[in-house]
Amino acid sequence: MELWFTEQQTPDLGFTCKITKTIYTAKTQYQDLAILETKQFGRMLVLDGAVQTTIADEFCYHELISHVPLFTHPNPKKVAVIGGGDGGVIREILKHDEVEKAYLIEIDREVIEASKKYLPEISCALDDERAEVVITDGIKFVSENKNMFDVIIVDSTDPVGPAVGLFQDSFYKAVFECLKEDGLFVAQTESPFYDQDLIKNVFHAVKSIFPITRLYLGFIPTYPSGLWSFTLGSKKYDPLEVDISKIKRIDTKYYNPELHKALFALPTFVQEIIK
Ligand code: SAM
Repeated sequence: MELWFTEQQTPDLGFTCKITKTIYTAKTQYQDLAILETKQFGRMLVLDGAVQTTIADEFCYHELISHVPLFTHPNPKKVAVIGGGDGGVIREILKHDEVEKAYLIEIDREVIEASKKYLPEISCALDDERAEVVITDGIKFVSENKNMFDVIIVDSTDPVGPAVGLFQDSFYKAVFECLKEDGLFVAQTESPFYDQDLIKNVFHAVKSIFPITRLYLGFIPTYPSGLWSFTLGSKKYDPLEVDISKIKRIDTKYYNPELHKALFALPTFVQEIIK
């Protein structure tokens, strides 16, 4: 018998792939968690029915959300990830030698435990001595810490359940306060095809707080529409002013110095969203 998993990406559209094995399922305090073995993408982490990451395409998302901010800041020593329990962003952050400490601020311990057990390719850096895991609500953590980080990366689930507050104006104000005086942050901000109101609202909220606000795009095959947006807010450094000849070559499959500025070149329909 064939087994298929479908994520209902919109009320009228599903993303379906063939499952060879259900490896693990759990109902955590915060969400339904599943690790599936898919034919097309290898192992897949699913939370509340939404694909979070897969072995085959995780590099697209994790590299884009990490290396753009880290190569925009000239000396990122202290970095925080809000969410990101699979550990993929921490793995990418620790490719930067100048990073002294990378904090993972994740609300759901069980996501980390399942990722460590079943997705070692992604979670492999979580036990690194430069990584520190803090189990708490990212909203609380950010509002309780001031002037602490060079870079904050918001690797959240979609804006439902505990992640709703990670897309609100008050959170971006707290992120501003939590960053050092020349700090910057980036957040995943969903699909320019299906989430135009969200992108518009987040962009304008960030723009009202940070002197520099930029939107960039990447391609992530398993996310709704494939086209994905990231919103960057910065107190001082502009990703478009980076001298790309000075960007160090690190081991990546998607990000490279030539792409750094090109990612910010937006199709006309996306320019319209943030106008
Ligand atoms: N890359 C994925 C995506 O875009 O779909 C997100 C991956 S990561 C698994 C998302 C994590 O955010 C989840 O593990 C979830 O538990 C965590 N999360 C959601 N709300 C949170 C909050 N308020 N504070 C900290 N972590 C949160």
